[in-house]
Amino acid sequence: MSSIQELTTKEKPQWCPGCGNFGLHMALKGALSELGIPKEKTVLVSGVGCSGKASHYINTYGFESLHGRSVTVASGVKLANHGLTVIAEGGDGDGYGIGSAHFLHSFRRNIDLTYIVHDNSIYGLTTGQASPTSQHGMKTKSTPHGNLEMQFNPLAVAIAAGGTFVARVFAGDMAHMKEVFKQALQHKGFALVDVLQPCVTFNKLNTFAWWQQRVYKLESAGHDPKNKAAAMEKAFEEMSSNYSKIPTGVFYKEERPTYVDESPQLASGPLIGHAVKSAEIEKAFEEFM
Ligand code: SF4
Repeated sequence: MSSIQELTTKEKPQWCPGCGNFGLHMALKGALSELGIPKEKTVLVSGVGCSGKASHYINTYGFESLHGRSVTVASGVKLANHGLTVIAEGGDGDGYGIGSAHFLHSFRRNIDLTYIVHDNSIYGLTTGQASPTSQHGMKTKSTPHGNLEMQFNPLAVAIAAGGTFVARVFAGDMAHMKEVFKQALQHKGFALVDVLQPCVTFNKLNTFAWWQQRVYKLESAGHDPKNKAAAMEKAFEEMSSNYSKIPTGVFYKEERPTYVDESPQLASGPLIGHAVKSAEIEKAFEEFM
């Protein structure tokens, strides 16, 4: 087991004071610590954006990958050594825009990893352009007359694409965020946690106060996360209520064999433990060349 202190690196975070990233990372470290997941058995893969620095600030193994590719690199890590706890992180622009194809197909594949999206509805690192989750009509640097595009709905897409754990939390509620992270980390399969978090510097619409007035917890509203139709309805509530009610918590959860469970090559243990003889490698080369 690693304490929060042991999970914290010496590097000073470069995020803006008040950014939702701080709370998110504290909740993640709390979840890892309380679950007793050792830091040397954990890998955090980040994408590009303000959240890209995530892998620098947590004392596990880490990899800062390419834009929109944190899930693909994390998938490779998990397949190479499925004995590890693997976490992918990225922003809404990174995962729902640039990496959208990877996002979609990860749910079908159901590789056992946790994907945390810092969803602040803006491109923060590039100083405030509209992102896939910016509201229709929202004014940003790139949309000075209002965003002409419809807001992307990651939860509805995740459920429709075959997601086995689909959740959303609010970065202003640390205790709830930590509990949902713990559930995601314990889930056997691909777990999405969309984190509503303010970009205090560039998103002047979706502030802490704005979300605070609208979010509520699904578990207090009697939602059954095994009910797919109800989960889909809840995934649309933000838009159907014209942003007056925004549900958080676990929307949908089901047990399904993971990619590793169904792969005969991985049945005898993680790939890193497989002894491959050079003669076998030469034979494979001959076959494919
Ligand atoms: Fe956070 Fe926005 Fe600052 Fe990036 S630009 S660190 S998302 S507040």
